[in-house]
Amino acid sequence: MKNKKGLVFSGARPTGRQHLGNLLGAIQNYVALQSEYDCIYSIVDIHALTTVETTAGLRENCMEMALDWLAAGIDPEQSIMFIQSHVPQVMELHTLLSMVVPMGKLTDLPTFKEKVRMHPQNVNYGLLGYPVLMSADILLYKAEIVPVGIDQAPHLEFTREVVRSFNYRYGTQVLVEPQMKGTKFTKVLGTDGVNKMSKSLDNEIEIAADEETTQKRVMTMVTDPARLRRSDPGNPDVCNVFSFHKMFSPQEDIDMVDRECRVAGIGCVDCKKLMAKHLNASLAPLRERRRELETKTDQVLEQLYDGADRARKIADQTMREVRDAIGLPRYRA
Ligand code: SF4
Repeated sequence: MKNKKGLVFSGARPTGRQHLGNLLGAIQNYVALQSEYDCIYSIVDIHALTTVETTAGLRENCMEMALDWLAAGIDPEQSIMFIQSHVPQVMELHTLLSMVVPMGKLTDLPTFKEKVRMHPQNVNYGLLGYPVLMSADILLYKAEIVPVGIDQAPHLEFTREVVRSFNYRYGTQVLVEPQMKGTKFTKVLGTDGVNKMSKSLDNEIEIAADEETTQKRVMTMVTDPARLRRSDPGNPDVCNVFSFHKMFSPQEDIDMVDRECRVAGIGCVDCKKLMAKHLNASLAPLRERRRELETKTDQVLEQLYDGADRARKIADQTMREVRDAIGLPRYRA
């Protein structure tokens, strides 16, 4: 690595089969960055432990996610793709970083308060230390760039503060302050037309679903709430189905829906069927690649192991420097 414009790191929790929100909001971005940057993409399974009550399905979820990432175009030769827990050095760095993070800083973070509200029965230490582990993810590889949407910006700023505190405390420059790559993350609403697409809200459309399932999900999509009857004119500007048309349909159909919806020239059923057709067509190549990958999961696992091997090499070097900077007694490697 180190031949391109910089080193990018990004991680995502293993949520299993990916949906359109994941694809348009993150994965496509990951794929695009590969041509200009050295990229490290991590399936952050340890992060998942902070909120799950059971680990049943965790391994499967990691594999399903890897299959979708690869099918979407993440190239494991070009980029490092791995599972977070396969590089245990991240836990060590997390502990060492935690020494320079004031407790109040963590309890004050809005994301912590939000998580406590969402999981009042499971407020664990890991949840509190989550942003420190996230910092360790980035700093372990000395990533220079982190692609984040605006809502994630405070997390990155937290990481930058950790770097400054650590480097100041130990009089070193060993940790690198990552820069935010302001990226246009497409926010995709779920089938309810109100909330961000999310598995937990059961409003998702999986990218690797079959055509029939996709069409069924599309048919459940909420449309312009003011359009109660087929004969009522609609307003595509407030309809999530139209947003999807704009992402997946050819311009002539976008124009047609924009025009005909307003004069009740097209009904919502036909409009959705048309959108599902275009959505299925645009996902067809990805789905074909995924079907092929599903027949060789052993090879996918090997790719994840290779990614972890490469990541561990970088991590080992960083940890040697970090331990030295702190002044920890050396041990025989
Ligand atoms: S016709 Fe299409 S754009 Fe208009 S309200 Fe129905 S689903 Fe939405």
